[in-house]
Amino acid sequence: MKRGDIMSSFIKTDRYRCNDCNHIFTGDEVLMGKNPFQEKYTVYGCPNCKEIEDFIPLCQWGYCNNPTSSGLPYGDDYYHVCGDHLRFAGGK
Ligand SMILES: [Zn+2]
Ligand SMILES: [Zn+2]
Repeated sequence: MKRGDIMSSFIKTDRYRCNDCNHIFTGDEVLMGKNPFQEKYTVYGCPNCKEIEDFIPLCQWGYCNNPTSSGLPYGDDYYHVCGDHLRFAGGK
């Protein structure tokens, strides 16, 4: 398998899992709002339980639900990957 073929198995969508309620959601579903104490900052929240900034990025390989351990640059894109898929895709 060539690296390009392997990379095409990654999905472009960012996916996250909430540490609080275990809900899995995409970057489009993340709640965003101004931090009431520091208005120039944006805070992000789980769309299910509304907990703020208590979620982790998931591996973007297909629909692998492992938490990510690192990122993998590819062309203009950047993917979150778990350790298993990082090795599989030939990253370090
Ligand atoms: Zn949640
Ligand atoms: Zn993975």
